[in-house]
Amino acid sequence: MNQELFDQKNILIIGYAMTGQSVAEFLVQKGANVTVNDRGNLIEDESVDALIRQGVKFVTGGHPLSLLEQPWDYIIKNPGIPYSIDIIQAAKQQNIPIYTDVEIASWIASGDIIGITGSNGKTTTTQLIYNLLKASDQFETYLSGNIGIPVLSQVDNLNPKDQLVMELSSFQLEGTQKFHPHIAIICNIYEAHLDYHQTHDNYIQAKLKITQNQTENDYLIYRYDQGELTQLIKESGTQAILIPFSVQCIDDVVRKTGVYFENEAIYYQGEYVMSTQHIQLPGQHNLENILAAIAVAKLKKLDSKLIADVINQYTGVAHRIQVIERVAGRTFVNDSKATNITATITALKSFKEPIRYIGGGLDRGNGFDELIPYTGQIQGAYLYGETKHKMKETFDKLPGVKVRLFDNLEQATEQAYYDAQAGEVILLSPCCASWDQFDHFEQRGDCFVKTVKALLKQQPYKKEN
Ligand code: ADP
Repeated sequence: MNQELFDQKNILIIGYAMTGQSVAEFLVQKGANVTVNDRGNLIEDESVDALIRQGVKFVTGGHPLSLLEQPWDYIIKNPGIPYSIDIIQAAKQQNIPIYTDVEIASWIASGDIIGITGSNGKTTTTQLIYNLLKASDQFETYLSGNIGIPVLSQVDNLNPKDQLVMELSSFQLEGTQKFHPHIAIICNIYEAHLDYHQTHDNYIQAKLKITQNQTENDYLIYRYDQGELTQLIKESGTQAILIPFSVQCIDDVVRKTGVYFENEAIYYQGEYVMSTQHIQLPGQHNLENILAAIAVAKLKKLDSKLIADVINQYTGVAHRIQVIERVAGRTFVNDSKATNITATITALKSFKEPIRYIGGGLDRGNGFDELIPYTGQIQGAYLYGETKHKMKETFDKLPGVKVRLFDNLEQATEQAYYDAQAGEVILLSPCCASWDQFDHFEQRGDCFVKTVKALLKQQPYKKEN
């Protein structure tokens, strides 16, 4: 352990929350002089008391510039805090290094780091990679990062043969300098987070930081079907060995170097890995996440049979187009995370089967006509919540779709349950935030799952022949 990196160093943590807490706990163990600064008051937080007892100083209720009068060796910023705030700008001018926890972890982590970034699909891909590597008895595997497990709470456990699978947001990557994953994955790049990064170019540069320190002994797995991304990777000058994944643009490059979908099966560098017939995750977007994960598994020399077993068992991250039940030919899908139109479009595009659509929620003032081109399979719409009348206006424009309104999600689910025929998908993908009737989207998804399970118990479908 490089104790000298931390011992007696003066370190300012800006932003507390779960990440800041893990950073403070880690640094104090390593002998650093730690100050935490948060704009909140942090009064009823027991973890604060524990850290104060260990000598950590807290400056709360704002970000006073006077803090910078002290000599800091470096600042560790919570990834959610934008670079535009005054104290960060002033620190930059004083040339105080500003890092995120991911950078600190990379200084000391033993074992291989597998870093996953991208605009969409990070959590799913990260979870798949973790499940795959965990199934191997060749090494220990740890999960961390943006997925909700701060990396500094994990690094001390690692041995040289271990694998650290990290989900990385662009916010986390922006604060890195030496961060060096052995395997990097860029799932895709779409327009996102312009409020934080200000320009599309800044956002892309933050994502590309994942590969900036990679060498010719490392790997970069990326989406080949997105020409812009392929070009950016070429221009980045990365030294890593490139592993493209592709569903649509299968050419000689992909066949020789990448992982791809062809003839209802997945291949890695020309070698058959598995059939896609028994995969439970719906949609092309999930197939892409699976390809990226398989590339990692193959680099780690996992057996194809084991890969197929793990992938086929996986039903998705909770609340994200998650298949919760397949009963009597009906498939129940919880996509409570879909709080906007784009997310619901992704869900609708994920199925070939007829759909019983359940949606509605908080009214943010928008209409829903953008859904129309993707509603071809919808047989019935079961709408509830503040937006139900607005959504009805959209669904009424679709010929042959029966639209029904309900007071709440339980009632809507119940009716969809009764109406559903064998071969259909019953999809909760609300297209709205949950806050009109729920505390958060997880609670909404749990309500849907609970209602479906209760109905299956009380009024099971008759078995189909
Ligand atoms: P993230 O962690 O990047 O937010 P998730 O894996 O949690 O991604 O998926 C969130 C939503 O993003 C999913 O419900 C789906 O709508 C969409 N999504 C997932 N994977 C992809 C992908 N590869 N391409 C495009 N959209 C995707």
